[in-house]
Amino acid sequence: MINEALTSIKGIGPGREKQLHKLGINNVSNLLVYFPRSYEDRRKIFSIKELENGVTAGVVGTVVSIMEKKPRPRLSILDITITDGTGPMKIVLFNQGYKKNFYKKGQRLYAYGKAEFQYGSMQMNSPQIENLGTDAMPDTGIVPIYPLAEGVSQYVVRSSIRNWFDAHHTMDEIMPPEIRANYMTMNRYDAFKEMHFPSSSESYEKARYQLAYEELFIMQSGLALLRNKEQCHVGPKMEPDGVLMEQCKENLPFQLTGDQERAISEISQDMQDERPMQRLLQGDVGSGKTVVATLSLVKAVENGYQAVIMAPTEILATQHYEGITELCKHLPINIALLTGSTSKKEKDRIYEELQNGTIQLIIGTHALIQDKVQFKNLGLVIIDEQHRFGVNQRAALQHKGVYPHVLIMTATPIPRTMTLSVYGDLAVSIIKEMPPGRKPVKTYVVDSSYKERLRVFFGKEMTTGHQVYVVCPLVEESEKLDLQAAEELFLELKDYFYKSFDVGLVHGRMNPKEKDEVMQAFHEGHIQLLVSTTVIEVGVNVPNATIMCIEGAERFGLSQLHQLRGRVGRGDIQAYCILVSDSKGDVSQERLRLMESTHDGFELAEQDLLLRGSGQLFGLAQSGLPDLRIANIIKDIDILVQARNDVLSYIREFGIEQLEKYMKLELEKRFGEKFLRILYN
Ligand code: ADP
Ligand code: MG
Repeated sequence: MINEALTSIKGIGPGREKQLHKLGINNVSNLLVYFPRSYEDRRKIFSIKELENGVTAGVVGTVVSIMEKKPRPRLSILDITITDGTGPMKIVLFNQGYKKNFYKKGQRLYAYGKAEFQYGSMQMNSPQIENLGTDAMPDTGIVPIYPLAEGVSQYVVRSSIRNWFDAHHTMDEIMPPEIRANYMTMNRYDAFKEMHFPSSSESYEKARYQLAYEELFIMQSGLALLRNKEQCHVGPKMEPDGVLMEQCKENLPFQLTGDQERAISEISQDMQDERPMQRLLQGDVGSGKTVVATLSLVKAVENGYQAVIMAPTEILATQHYEGITELCKHLPINIALLTGSTSKKEKDRIYEELQNGTIQLIIGTHALIQDKVQFKNLGLVIIDEQHRFGVNQRAALQHKGVYPHVLIMTATPIPRTMTLSVYGDLAVSIIKEMPPGRKPVKTYVVDSSYKERLRVFFGKEMTTGHQVYVVCPLVEESEKLDLQAAEELFLELKDYFYKSFDVGLVHGRMNPKEKDEVMQAFHEGHIQLLVSTTVIEVGVNVPNATIMCIEGAERFGLSQLHQLRGRVGRGDIQAYCILVSDSKGDVSQERLRLMESTHDGFELAEQDLLLRGSGQLFGLAQSGLPDLRIANIIKDIDILVQARNDVLSYIREFGIEQLEKYMKLELEKRFGEKFLRILYN
């Protein structure tokens, strides 16, 4: 069934097949998982006389007149009057004048929508309309409404799926029998059929639950297999903390916070196990992850292994290099920095000394992934700001060692729902507590009438030697327009401050080298005010910056705003975050107000998930995981947890090979090659 041609279904010829292609449906199995986006309850056909104001209902009637009106230049209204013998009803379509010739007098239509009594007659504005021909009756029951593309009708999708179900009466089961016995109340065929053509809302709910469970079970099986593969390897088992660790801790310029201590000891424990560590270190911007990373790196070195930390940009890598070198300055450790702009001569030296083991600790960018980089005995891999890297890049670095320990760090607070679904049971350490002495960033929401006052405020802060970020939104759909806006603002501010301060611009269209140069100039204080699109989101540390001003703030996610806010307030000077927004909507105002009242990144991330969905929070697209078609990892968290527990107990009872045997085909189908390559490399 997997790759069976669409044309094997009754009613689908080359023409319809082409239409279905437009929806991304290329074979029978694609078609069957093309689930409705909503449903209409058409169990009753109303007569027009029966309609009451405000009721959503379906009626069947014959067209008696069609009229187009153009009350304003950009507004066209199409009035189609139908009657069913009990009275007339008007169907009103806005700006769809092209449909004028689509409908004809005498034609029978089914219209489903909200009935409204207006101007003395019953009407429906923009209802769902189906053309019925002379004697056909509309589909009744609870009818699926599919997402469509231009030139494809509900009828084509619906009847194609209907015809498949009419011709087939079974579907292969894919879940292990023990799981089916416990959880599945319907067979798979019935569950799919209920999803497309529900017989009642109760059985629909049952079917949905079952298929969501199935989907999450498959996903969790994949993650379990992946993790199992990692765990059966033997990695570098390290000794309990020794002299070098002791020295490093003694020489720290500050006292570790409780959370930092705990994270370090969790990591140490993991590294003392022969199973390679797979741990996520989460901590808000400025919470002090670098020192945790440093101690982990030192531990690997202390045990005679090489260690590496990879950051997404040159400036970040350089900052890590400087910070880590400083923290390790009393220790006999050979540290190097490798980035794209390292000179050829230096690179050659680094390649050689990595291979012969002279360099013990290396810090760098993507340059580390290149083939020429070969380690003698890599024992620990740390990846900073992990959502900036794809699965493959992470894997490439990991494979430079023989199952090294892996620590990934992120400042994006990831709610538990996400860690569970994206990482399975990856171990997590969280730093919640900020280093002492931090003043919370004062946050204000203002509209653009504050422009002049803000500039005066920027000037005042810069006069005392502080620095300012101004961020303009960059959305992918229109990078060009946004760039224009950023450039305009840059020129305005440059003009405004030309006598006293230097203003810089950094944007997404610059190449990495250009970006780094501007950032470096800001870092070193040659630029006092930096206008940017969102590129500074990644953790650059400029302790002297005290104002973060974000234009069009309503266009950002709360997590993003929180990340940006984290760029300031890193020292003990009072810092400010100004959110400029002219959006009057209640929801966006409420979201922004939340920024004023909370500094908890986790809370903000949860809100984001609720309000905006998971996609953008966390580079899910890069995670290499399949799209979920039925389950929603936020709303269906209970099913997710259930499926995960069931996968784990299944493995305990029957063994991982048994699980693999049942799920392999399905995993291949859903996760695709990329996942399999990771699993079976
Ligand atoms: P992030 O988690 O964003 O990577 P960093 O590691 O860059 O944060 O730390 C932010 C700043 O806080 C650095 O200047 C660092 O020296 C300082 N810092 C880290 N831990 C502590 C601590 N326990 N006490 C005081 N300052 C600390
Ligand atoms: Mg950092």
